[in-house]
Amino acid sequence: MPTYHIWTIGCQMNRAESDRLAGRFEELGYTPVSKPGEADLIVVNSCVVRQSAEDRAVNKLHNLRMVKQANPLARLALTGCLVGEDTDGLKKRFPYVDWFFQPGEAPPWLDGPAATPLPPRVKVSETVAISQGCDNFCTYCIVPYRRGRERSVPPDDIVREVRALAERGAKEVTLLGQNVDSWGRDLPGQPDLADLLEAVNEVPELKRVRFLTNHPKDMGLKLIKAIARLDKVCEQVNLPAQAGSNAILKRMGRGYTREHYLELIGTIKDNVPGVSVSTDIIVGFPGETDGQFRETLDLLEKAKFGTVHVAVYSPREGTVAAREMADDVPAAVKKERLTAVEALQEAVQTELNGVLLGSTAEVLVEGRNKGKWYGRTRTDKLVFFTERRDLSGELVSIKITKTSPWSLQGTYVERDSTEEEQ
Ligand code: SAH
Ligand code: SF4
Repeated sequence: MPTYHIWTIGCQMNRAESDRLAGRFEELGYTPVSKPGEADLIVVNSCVVRQSAEDRAVNKLHNLRMVKQANPLARLALTGCLVGEDTDGLKKRFPYVDWFFQPGEAPPWLDGPAATPLPPRVKVSETVAISQGCDNFCTYCIVPYRRGRERSVPPDDIVREVRALAERGAKEVTLLGQNVDSWGRDLPGQPDLADLLEAVNEVPELKRVRFLTNHPKDMGLKLIKAIARLDKVCEQVNLPAQAGSNAILKRMGRGYTREHYLELIGTIKDNVPGVSVSTDIIVGFPGETDGQFRETLDLLEKAKFGTVHVAVYSPREGTVAAREMADDVPAAVKKERLTAVEALQEAVQTELNGVLLGSTAEVLVEGRNKGKWYGRTRTDKLVFFTERRDLSGELVSIKITKTSPWSLQGTYVERDSTEEEQ
């Protein structure tokens, strides 16, 4: 039987696309192998959002040259954001790669899009792409250049895919887009994310719905009210701030101010009780002064995020920032700022999670690791607990007995049968 191996790095969109590719290959009779040296078909799904990710993909491709030499019949394909519209440069750099195809596109040796098949093994928590590409052109970001302009997937196709995943055992879906708040603007009748959530909320076997990423310039009250109202939609919002200084936000081309951002957080917290908000931050953007960086720290203190993804600014060729703004914050200062964000955030998460001690949380059990079950709360907190029975895919009540900034531990609460009958 022919075999395949997919190597993936980068965002959830890349992981979702790799899952769908795996589905296509298995439909065609390929079986997965964990070593590229044993595969007939190898796919590298790359990321170039930062230099470090690009370097890892390039190293992987260099290593695969030996694999191809040892097994000349193996076929090697490259996808992900390393592949732009023009592949001439890549063909020269990696002549032993057989195929290049852009993220979200069909592999050139197959007919029809890869986005439609289901992943080969449906997980408790699955992802569904609701749009491709991005129209925002934040000055630091390569994504619009590599993934193209925003294209929304029609609502019926999304609901059909969610339904199919749920029928095969998925209990939670995360709807993915670079800016989920602009989903639908290019579709007939211009539906919005709130309308889509309303439809997905009706899928019978499904227990939970999440979505990412929101954009602070586009997120509106209609969506916030939908999150509050719809029972399956989790109390969790991913709202990248990127920076806390208005001068930096302006040069990033983000289209909002810190005041607007903080007001939006207030509106979300007022309307959605218990909500957890996560964010992305870039430190060391061109020209960022100590004072401007302190405004980012101040924003983190005020907003109290459940999670922060922090990255050091990395100039990406082709973007406005790389072309027009000197990468002038020294590497050591960038590193210091990264550490400062991490330290502050550890304190915030210690406090937020500490409050949960003794409370009971609804956990969707995703799997087992080192003798413990693990799953997430509706607010996306990771919880570990022990129990003899197989609880995979179940919604359980867990009493929180221990907290850390990164996860919670607890004990399984037996369901009170009298309560259930009421
Ligand atoms: N559409 C999403 C995700 C974009 S890429 C959004 O708007 O947030 C994911 C994250 O990578 C971004 O939020 C940003 O924090 C980070 N990122 C993007 N380009 C970067 C760059 N050039 N240097 C450092 N971090 C970057
Ligand atoms: Fe990149 Fe900005 Fe689009 Fe996010 S919204 S993908 S950061 S251009």
